[in-house]
Amino acid sequence: MKKRTEKELVEHFWSKVRKINGKCWKWRGSHFETGYPMFHVDRIPIQATRFMLKIINGEMPRMALHKCDKRWCINPDHLYDGSQKDNMRDRMERGVYYNRHTGHKRAKLKGWRFAEFKARVLKGEPPFRIGKEYGIHGATACKIAKKLFSNQSQQEE
Ligand SMILES: [Zn+2]
Repeated sequence: MKKRTEKELVEHFWSKVRKINGKCWKWRGSHFETGYPMFHVDRIPIQATRFMLKIINGEMPRMALHKCDKRWCINPDHLYDGSQKDNMRDRMERGVYYNRHTGHKRAKLKGWRFAEFKARVLKGEPPFRIGKEYGIHGATACKIAKKLFSNQSQQEE
């Protein structure tokens, strides 16, 4: 499959957005299990809300948060860059994460972050590289990935 140009990608993105003046906008594409809209960039599924903020702000936030409580909403007026908050939480979770005795091994990969990680790993991206983006140690990312693969093959059997 040919890679889309940035312009084509953005056009494709907008074709999936259903705008309603002053209301929550619906995403016509697919969704993560968590209910967040999904958009593929270079065949990698990401949260469509993040891509929306990228179009609006010129930069892809690590996390897009909603002002409204609708996970599926893609209206940029209802979204904000949650990276700052996310960074702070990351640090806190990392503290928990490296504590081997708490058992909170996957604290950092909850919800959509985990869904995204999983989807990318199963698509064959190197786990240590994805792990980096999520602030996870390479060896840990590989361990989680291995578990994902073994779960996956169990399901297929
Ligand atoms: Zn909304």
